[in-house]
Amino acid sequence: LSLPIGPEPANVSHQSGGVPAFAIPTPNSNPDEIRPGPDGNLWFTETGANQLARITPAGVITEIPIPTPSSGPSGFVTGPDGKLWVAEANANQIGRFSPIPTVGPITAPLAPVAVNTAINVSAPFTDANLGTTDTAVWNWGDNSTSAGTVTETSGSGTVTGSHSYAVDGVYTVTLTVTNNLGGSGQSVFQYVVVYNPSAGFVTGGGGITSPAGAYAANPSLTGQANFGLNAKYKSGATVPTGNTDFQFPAANLTFQSTSYDWLVITTNQAQYQGSGTINGAGNYGFLVTAQDNGGGSTSDKLRLKIWDKNNNNAVVYDTQPGAANTAAPTTALGGGRIQVHTNAQLVAGGANASGGNVAPLTAEELQPVVQEAIARWEAAGIDATQVSALSQVTVGIAAFSGPWLGMAFPGAIWIDQTAAGYGWYLDPSPAGDSAFPAAPGSPAYGTVDLLTVVEHELGHELGFEDTTGDGLMGVFLPTGVRRVPAPDQVSVNTPDEGFVPPASSPPLATLPARGAVVGSDVLAALLETPLDKGGAVATVALGPSAEAPVPPSLAPVLLMVENNRGDLTAATSSGQQEANLVWALDAVFASEQDNLLPELG
Ligand SMILES: [Zn+2]
Repeated sequence: LSLPIGPEPANVSHQSGGVPAFAIPTPNSNPDEIRPGPDGNLWFTETGANQLARITPAGVITEIPIPTPSSGPSGFVTGPDGKLWVAEANANQIGRFSPIPTVGPITAPLAPVAVNTAINVSAPFTDANLGTTDTAVWNWGDNSTSAGTVTETSGSGTVTGSHSYAVDGVYTVTLTVTNNLGGSGQSVFQYVVVYNPSAGFVTGGGGITSPAGAYAANPSLTGQANFGLNAKYKSGATVPTGNTDFQFPAANLTFQSTSYDWLVITTNQAQYQGSGTINGAGNYGFLVTAQDNGGGSTSDKLRLKIWDKNNNNAVVYDTQPGAANTAAPTTALGGGRIQVHTNAQLVAGGANASGGNVAPLTAEELQPVVQEAIARWEAAGIDATQVSALSQVTVGIAAFSGPWLGMAFPGAIWIDQTAAGYGWYLDPSPAGDSAFPAAPGSPAYGTVDLLTVVEHELGHELGFEDTTGDGLMGVFLPTGVRRVPAPDQVSVNTPDEGFVPPASSPPLATLPARGAVVGSDVLAALLETPLDKGGAVATVALGPSAEAPVPPSLAPVLLMVENNRGDLTAATSSGQQEANLVWALDAVFASEQDNLLPELG
């Protein structure tokens, strides 16, 4: 019988009886003690060669000279610190050696950094002090790694690195230092927050059933809780703006945000962090993770975590206690809606799950469509500067998972490879629109018009924001439909900060007081009047009325509106503040629209 065995190191011989023996590379090394080391290998002293040596379970021996000449290493042991303590008999000293690098805390930016901005990180380490050399690898948490720059003398040193993130997110950075003995140590930094001020914004309002375990002071407590939220980077700002309100009546807990630190938007998820108060007092940190799954209500998910900054950051409330801050939200809404607004266009009805055989879009197919899209905008009346800006936009092809057809970032647009599984309609005569609306059986039928999506994303580059309607800037595009820039779109190029109230605007009315009764007439006026960029908020009558009670799910929203009272009353003297309020109201009521009408009957 012969058993298969793996390859043996070259230093293996077989003693009588078949017991392997492992030859030591240095002749007459006079091995003394052999013991398990902290790294899973056996270590031994070579008294005659003034060396420490390591032998792996496979028999591979690595010898390391001891720095003090002729020290006479003999007995040794792994100490409680995980290091090797060696009696150096001839040198009258005890040596202490670490076969595994110990990596200290990583220094990285604590403040959020913008996408495509280089960050510098560093960490100290100590190693064997045995003439070992170290290499280091940074894992940036975005599926990329890079070698660290190692500076070391006498077994300790520093690793530095630099990275820029192309996509916003919340990242864990891991540093691994490995020495030439194969021992490695790690250090982890949580979190590098990377934001994209142009990525979009989030709005939401509604309710959840607060899960058991969420309220730390009484973990068994459950019950209805309501929330209203919005968050957005205003143009040029490095911290986001918005309000977050949360009420959990069973716990007598009312949380109100006072400031935001950062906001990160991914395709359908928003995460942001800030500070606030509970029941009007204290200094609390909070983290919101909001997921927009498109269908509204129960498919949207929320996480809220609140901690007490005045009490060692003890967690006060968390719908996912113990989960990492980067965990996806798991608490489904019981009512209401979360909307993650991105500069993206989505296919109406969701991605085509069975559309696996669609030929991917090529750059050669895309290029002439981009030219036609710019020509269409030019025909609609944009000026020469705008035409020039569009011609410098980078156009790329991406593989989005989900219903995303295209996405715009400053200076760049991305078009999905397969039109969310439906396939792109490549118009053989793009200057005409005769193929639309697409009749059943025609080539454009059931596919997505590439020209429309490119025009839409270029519209974002011109400064237009998404709309809810059927126009070119509509968020949702059905298959078989073409939309084109309209001449009246070219003059509405006013992002938030550019909004200036018309000179003829009447003064703004007062908002309802907190807890006040709001009439359906007021709400109807709000809902029917687009509180859009350039929309006439001044024509909307906001005032208390006694016709209908405030629906419970609207209470946090009204609270949020009230938080903007200062902005509103000062609005006539400040275009900036009015723009802020327009945005806040727009966001709140856009998110509540679906819920309010049925509730008000
Ligand atoms: Zn869009």
